[in-house]
Amino acid sequence: MDTILVVNAGSSSVKFQVFSIEGEGRLRRQLKGQMDGIGSRPRLRASGANGDTLADRAYPIEAVADVPAAMEIAGSWLRDELRIDPIAVGHRVVHGGPDYDRPVRIDHGVVARLERFVSLAPLHQPHNLAPIRSILAGFPTLPQVACFDTAFHRTHSAVADHYAIPHQLHAEGVRRYGFHGLSYEYIAKTLPHIAPDVAKRRVIVAHLGSGASMCALKAGQSVESTMGFTALDGLPMGTRPGQLDPGVVLYLISEKGMSASNVQNFLYRDCGLKGLSGVSNDMRELEASADARAKLAIDYFVYRIGLNAGMLAAALQGLDAFVFTAGIGENSATIRARVVGQLGWLGVSLDPAENSRNSQLISRSESLIPVYVVPTDEELMIAQHTLALLVNTPSTNPRQERVS
Ligand code: AMP
Repeated sequence: MDTILVVNAGSSSVKFQVFSIEGEGRLRRQLKGQMDGIGSRPRLRASGANGDTLADRAYPIEAVADVPAAMEIAGSWLRDELRIDPIAVGHRVVHGGPDYDRPVRIDHGVVARLERFVSLAPLHQPHNLAPIRSILAGFPTLPQVACFDTAFHRTHSAVADHYAIPHQLHAEGVRRYGFHGLSYEYIAKTLPHIAPDVAKRRVIVAHLGSGASMCALKAGQSVESTMGFTALDGLPMGTRPGQLDPGVVLYLISEKGMSASNVQNFLYRDCGLKGLSGVSNDMRELEASADARAKLAIDYFVYRIGLNAGMLAAALQGLDAFVFTAGIGENSATIRARVVGQLGWLGVSLDPAENSRNSQLISRSESLIPVYVVPTDEELMIAQHTLALLVNTPSTNPRQERVS
């Protein structure tokens, strides 16, 4: 059975999924797993397509000190115990910089180019590149494909791509890139099957998970996003503040004596729902909490989604559909109801019964704008891209022995 391995590597975890290639290039998910607690309490967990547990084992901290070590253990487990020998590997890579507007087959030159974007995404890019480098070293002819979170937004106009700063900085790469592109691309590809008429028109997609952003789609193409140069901007998130006056950063430096790395940690880890509530970064815990600050954090989240929806509707010059996706968007009927409440001025009206069932269409028939819930699948998107590049640029002998 030919398979594709999808890898999503972060600072403390490596997530992976395996897809089998069925007839006519269809992909079927076989398993998902992750090695988390890298450098602290490493644990390999994996489950099959039906949710059955395939692995759940702890490792000593010294055995899994970094991402390459985690990839090595996960790879050996797949090869030696499950006899899975993928014909290609697709990677989630957060930053494709200004040039990559689509996935790319990886070679040493591509890795060198992607290294240049480490400074644009210092917390993510190095971890994304680590397993790519170790697979290149160990399995030099195994095809690898990089799929970027930024690529889907490269269709933005110049006016949407700029900040009002001197041009030299834009030329260096200080631009409004936008992220969660693989999720938006999946929604843009799926929507024509759900609502063919509106998919051709003006749609706002709200990706509401631990990271959160919104994207304005016109005829399936991204024209605007709430995220910008980094994944800090836009909506409040689990631990990131979203839109913040840069003066706050100056205040942290000049009045609180914080260094650049202190500020970075603070903005990525201590703000957002966690910072505002003082309770949790997790929406389920906030919804269950009686704490007044948890309520304020939820109010703020909903309010900012409403404000940003207005901004994106202006970018689109109207609105024909609204889509919820990701952990909160797919599962929290309460948050969806409150967000739809913020969109009332656009003529949106919720069907509470359909909403509480997490139905695909959750607006009433008389709503001027239909509202959908569409589960996202970034890993399937990566597997599809990987397969497509494999077919279009076949290697002479994709299945190779490991270099020892
Ligand atoms: P993601 O990053 O897409 O996995 O989403 C994670 C977020 O989704 C966390 O804030 C979770 O609390 C939230 N979430 C998942 N399921 C639910 C649920 N049933 N109700 C509310 N929030 C949820």
